[in-house]
Amino acid sequence: MSRFDLSVLETAPKLPGKPRHKTREVKVGDKVFGGDNPIWVQSMTTTDTFDVEGTVKQIHALEEAGCELVRVTVPKPEDAGALSEIKKRIGIPLICDIHFDYKMALAALDHPVDKLRINPGNIGGIDRFRQVVRKAKDRGLPMRIGVNAGSLEREFNEKYGFPCPPAMVESCLRYIEIAESEGYHNIIVSLKSSDVLVAVEAYRLYAKLADYPTHIGITEAGKPPYAVTKSAAGLAPILLDGIGDTIRVSLLGDPVPEIAACFDILQATQRRVRRPELIACPTCGRLAIDLEKIIAELEQRLEGRKLPVKISVLGCVVNGPGEAKEADIGIAAGNGQGMIFRNGEMVRKVKEEEIVDALMVELADWEATNQHRLPKTKDAEGLGRRKLPLVTG
Ligand code: SF4
Repeated sequence: MSRFDLSVLETAPKLPGKPRHKTREVKVGDKVFGGDNPIWVQSMTTTDTFDVEGTVKQIHALEEAGCELVRVTVPKPEDAGALSEIKKRIGIPLICDIHFDYKMALAALDHPVDKLRINPGNIGGIDRFRQVVRKAKDRGLPMRIGVNAGSLEREFNEKYGFPCPPAMVESCLRYIEIAESEGYHNIIVSLKSSDVLVAVEAYRLYAKLADYPTHIGITEAGKPPYAVTKSAAGLAPILLDGIGDTIRVSLLGDPVPEIAACFDILQATQRRVRRPELIACPTCGRLAIDLEKIIAELEQRLEGRKLPVKISVLGCVVNGPGEAKEADIGIAAGNGQGMIFRNGEMVRKVKEEEIVDALMVELADWEATNQHRLPKTKDAEGLGRRKLPLVTG
């Protein structure tokens, strides 16, 4: 007889994971946001948009890193004039970012952009917002209503006392209703704050009330590496709650590292698995093999492989066999040897220098026997052991 209430455990789900926030689909260029579509990774240029060469060069670098949509700022009329040329020279959807001047939004909409982002808190009032909505509707273009805690309208700050989650969500819902009253539903929503707790709660609150897809991010996260950790701390609970249809990690400086950070966060939360998941211990005085060397070689040989496979490589027998059993392919090291596990069973032993080759052989075999589940995108759960979902997009 335990002094704890074990019935809590009996009813707890064995395979954790919340379903995705049900959102309607909104098309942005060749990407569809929402529904069961992948959570798209986006970034924003840091160049002067009027500098077409510099902006296109940065967008190409972002594309090379895997960026799937890009946003440029449009603060002056010359920037709007540059949009057509930029769009011609890039391969991903182009989003223009508007603050303060609704005329810039109207000007941008005269160019072949794929989406508009406006901040309703600083666009200059409801009439101006309506004018932008009408033109976006005429052009058939989607718009992000990007509420930001730092620029919330005074009336919501006064009503709630400060830019708290309910204040942000009420502001957002009001603009949604205004857009809907114009017959416009091509909406994506963001509720950003530089405060992780505020952002997480704002998205949670929004997801209870509305079904437009969400762009998620922790704004003004600052300088890496802390900014990456802070973004992960905020984005993980949002993603684990099933919320988010497109993601940006905002880093001070070069935007290219934002892309890897986004994909890592999506991979770790299992919302978009695009590569093998490597489980490796931190090592300690019990280490029985050169684990760093093995992992480095393995990473190199797995480069570019889009497989939802869990590979565990642990440095000794303390947790090695246990982790290896839970992985699809596992190695538990001991005395310069590696015990290879497949689906929970020990299949053979190999010498330390043969570990990487042996793992690659097992991987080829795993790939051949799991072909049937590779094309599926929502196969999040296997029988007993948890299977990684492959959501490559
Ligand atoms: S698995 Fe072994 S070597 Fe690795 S950290 Fe744990 S005890 Fe240390």
